[in-house]
Amino acid sequence: MSYWDEKFETMGADQMRAFQGEKLAETVAWVYGRVPFYKKALDEKGVSPGDIRSVDDITKLPFTVKNDLRDNYPFGLCAVPMTELARVHASSGTTGKPITGPYTPEDRDQWAGCMARTLWAQGLRPDDIAQNAYGMGLFTGGLGFYMGAEKVGCCLVPTGSGMTERQIMLMQDFGSTALFCTPTYALTIAEKAEQLGVDLRKLPLRMGSFGAEPWTVQMREEIEQRMGIRAHEAYGLTEMMGPGVGFSCEAYNLHLNEDHTYPEIVDPATLEPLPLGEKGELIFTALQRRAMPLLRYRTRDITSLRRIECECGRTLVVMDKILGRSDDMLIISGVNVFPSQIEALLMDIEEMEPHYRIRVTKRGHLDAMKVEAEAKPEVYAQGAQAVADLGRRLAKHIQAVIGVNAPVEVVPSGSIARSEGKAKRVFDER
Ligand code: ADP
Ligand code: ZN
Repeated sequence: MSYWDEKFETMGADQMRAFQGEKLAETVAWVYGRVPFYKKALDEKGVSPGDIRSVDDITKLPFTVKNDLRDNYPFGLCAVPMTELARVHASSGTTGKPITGPYTPEDRDQWAGCMARTLWAQGLRPDDIAQNAYGMGLFTGGLGFYMGAEKVGCCLVPTGSGMTERQIMLMQDFGSTALFCTPTYALTIAEKAEQLGVDLRKLPLRMGSFGAEPWTVQMREEIEQRMGIRAHEAYGLTEMMGPGVGFSCEAYNLHLNEDHTYPEIVDPATLEPLPLGEKGELIFTALQRRAMPLLRYRTRDITSLRRIECECGRTLVVMDKILGRSDDMLIISGVNVFPSQIEALLMDIEEMEPHYRIRVTKRGHLDAMKVEAEAKPEVYAQGAQAVADLGRRLAKHIQAVIGVNAPVEVVPSGSIARSEGKAKRVFDER
């Protein structure tokens, strides 16, 4: 076994908790003394930094929500003056105004370390040629992967996202062995290559590190098969550092870098902590950051945590696949539905393509949902009846597994926009 940071990646549970407790106390003292927002929030709860002696004390701390970041936009939650910053990123703003991500030089270097840990665990080595097709710029994806790959010492090709034909040309000409992008962009690249008659499976490309949006195991297998690679996963969010918060290992378990970012799962309604294995909202506390460390940040991502003996030897806590953001959750006839569930069901059906969107409308007082999805070319060749039958089959499958009645329309091949970054799945027409 080979680790980037063996000490922390394989640390025993007690030692990790002690380390986390120490860093938590430091962080709380740091923000209490420097960020008026946190001083006020802690004072209101009657908690002083001295009350935080171990990670168990974390439940005494107030939560931070996305709106707190918006209300204090751009740097109101910053613990250092701008002159001490080395970098500022901002979220892609999927759900509204951008969220700023400021870094001190130390924060930035730690982030690079977390990304090197990620890529090393996924098999990236100095002799690799890595094509970085994450958006370069304010989005944390591009520069996060750039720094990690540089630290590992491989040859980096910073293509940025888009210009898919050129991506494929460079992949062939440069002999790229690794690809970094969102899973839906990987799929877009795979599809374009097939249209161009380029067999990616015959190229040197052997691994991918994909993230920034939810994707299912079925989607991973689809990408692996079409590209002839191992498709790994990166997880992160601007508020915590960007990518590098969690990474899948060779066993495809997603480990969290819990020495940097402390995870909790709470019931989103009551905010009470939930035990390991139970699904709820993921909460993060930054343990080692200086520019803008957030306490108990509500990510809105829905998942669960597990302690397992992973075959990779890492002791870092494992996170299950993100079901989606609570913002993306649809309530259809009283049933909670996430787009990722529809994705999984769609991909159970051999004749469907992994391209879909969900339209949400109103039917009386209730929300209704309609799925639009593409079929494989051979289905269209069989005529309109076959196309309609396929739609009904998927609708039945959705009804049987999640119990909602959602008509499915099989739409013409290529009519659903292909993604170059984070895919938009849900179209709200209420
Ligand atoms: P934005 O909020 O504008 O999308 P970010 O790029 O900071 O900005 O997005 C972070 C969010 O992206 C996470 O909170 C999560 O919802 C999603 N995300 C990132 N990586 C993954 C992943 N591997 N699986 C599922 N969702 C992910
Ligand atoms: Zn593992």
